[in-house]
Amino acid sequence: MCGIVGYIGKKEAYPIILNGLKRLEYRGYDSAGIAIYDGSNIQLCKTKGKVADLEEKIKKEITIKGNLGIGHTRWATHGVPNDINSHPHLSNSGNLVIIHNGIIENYTSLKEELLKRGYTFHSETDTEVLVNLIEDIIKKEKVKLGKAVQIALNQVVGAYAIAIFDKNKPDEIVVAKLGSPLAIGIGEDEFFVASDASPFIEFTNNAIYLKDEEMAIIRIGRDVEVRKIKDDSLVAPYIEELKINLEQIEKGGYEHFMLKEIFEQPTVIKDTYRGRLLVNKGIIKLGGLEDYIEKFINADRIIIVACGTSWHAGLVAEYIFEDWARIPVEVEYASEFRYRNPIITEKDVVIAISQSGETADTLAAVKLAKEKGAFVYGICNVVGSSISRETHSGTYTHAGPEIGVASTKSFTTQITVLTMIALKLAKIKGTISHRDFMLHLRELELIPSKVKEALESNGKIQEIAEIFKDVKNFLYLGRGHNFPVALEGALKLKEISYIHAEGYPAAEMKHGPIALIDEQMPVVVIAVNSNHYDKVVSNIQEIKSRQGIIIAVVTEGDTIVKEMADYIMEVPKTPETLTPLVTTIPLQLLSYHIAVLLNRNVDQPRNLAKSVTVE
Ligand code: GLU
Repeated sequence: MCGIVGYIGKKEAYPIILNGLKRLEYRGYDSAGIAIYDGSNIQLCKTKGKVADLEEKIKKEITIKGNLGIGHTRWATHGVPNDINSHPHLSNSGNLVIIHNGIIENYTSLKEELLKRGYTFHSETDTEVLVNLIEDIIKKEKVKLGKAVQIALNQVVGAYAIAIFDKNKPDEIVVAKLGSPLAIGIGEDEFFVASDASPFIEFTNNAIYLKDEEMAIIRIGRDVEVRKIKDDSLVAPYIEELKINLEQIEKGGYEHFMLKEIFEQPTVIKDTYRGRLLVNKGIIKLGGLEDYIEKFINADRIIIVACGTSWHAGLVAEYIFEDWARIPVEVEYASEFRYRNPIITEKDVVIAISQSGETADTLAAVKLAKEKGAFVYGICNVVGSSISRETHSGTYTHAGPEIGVASTKSFTTQITVLTMIALKLAKIKGTISHRDFMLHLRELELIPSKVKEALESNGKIQEIAEIFKDVKNFLYLGRGHNFPVALEGALKLKEISYIHAEGYPAAEMKHGPIALIDEQMPVVVIAVNSNHYDKVVSNIQEIKSRQGIIIAVVTEGDTIVKEMADYIMEVPKTPETLTPLVTTIPLQLLSYHIAVLLNRNVDQPRNLAKSVTVE
């Protein structure tokens, strides 16, 4: 979910748009495109790849100079990254031109309706549906662009930041926002539109940040007209004076991409289940799964292959799948799996998890599993990535680009997808009661607000980090569903702070690591409400009797562990199966703050690469 940029004014639009797209590149992208309008002609240029590729193509394809233009860097959600699916998209008449960031959840039903009305579609995107819906409304209702956008968006379910113009109105751009960001830069007789202020910061310091469910009609020679999408009522816009530099804008005001991504989790978890978790209807709809349910239901076992953080998400899934769906699960390091002549049969389902979808070992494991006849399902973030193409089917996490090398939002969004799959299978198999199914559906929907609440402890966690930043070793303990969270907590600390840390199942501590415990050794214990709570309390006592120092992740309102622990980090009460989605938050923050205090390169830790495309 990447960048949009637009310009209308007296200057030539093209250089502003192109430069703006380059500034927005940090948001990640797989393709880019631009539309220029000179008052009589509209020219489009779109390409898969980088903005630099677009720049080359533009030299050949854009021959006009115009004062109105829009551009887009795409992070595909609907349809692979290719030239046709790139934005801008045209309506059937060729009059309307749109760019869009986000997801139109109900695009299938809208598309069916439009197909019946004779509309045709060239791309696989949800965006092309929206632009034609707007065109249809202009024709049917005999209204202008602004009104048609307002009517259309009231029929849309999803998230969007859009900019659209009409060939019949060369002095106007209409924009709207819900969920995705959108800023309007106000210059002298000129306006800019962008996902953030970076494309226009050198031209103006005055900007309106549209709020959710607001739209704006931007017309040369007039004030920006901001309206509520719901009822068309006028809103007095708040014009902000920008006092930030380019780098600050890129990181959304955060010091590092990693922190930005940690704080994005409430939003991206929602994006992951958007249109898939239909609580009111009591169903989970996963496009990639619907046709292959039988494969899963009849599977002898599920083998999950992954590396690093994705492997930890796989371990969380093992608990969930076995508990709810009663299907045996094995979780494998992709690198080990492929080299040990594994036994794989046609009755196995293999799930490959990878943020980038390019992880070399996981990709090789996918190919091996396919050769042996297994059904292979992918869970990736990057649409059109190698693993997503190589697998038989799959589900995208829709987490948006992750720039920080240490994964944070990929972990929680992968768990969200895996939880939905497990719940759906359990429901179909009848291994979960209707009551439990509905309870977890509702609770999953509440996770974004609980993550948000967990993030509020940021300041307190920073203080804890200050105390422990010079420690040489950490131990992380968890039981049950939170054992993999302990592993992930230790991995995060190692990756970005270079402090040695080990994750262990709490009960295993007695079989070795307990020998390490002394007053120098902080032990991070995940001790939230669960079936294992009493057992974890005993483990804490064992550590305390050996002068160990306890930092505990506890459920809000906890009294027992609070008494025993030296430091606590609270998370909201959550059903046990879903706790990894919240308990991981304080651990991410703890690692982050320790690394910052140690002056580490948080976003690009030494020796690590974001996507490991070598064995
Ligand atoms: N859903 C749209 C697409 O897949 C927009 C994606 C984006 O935000 O870049 O084309």
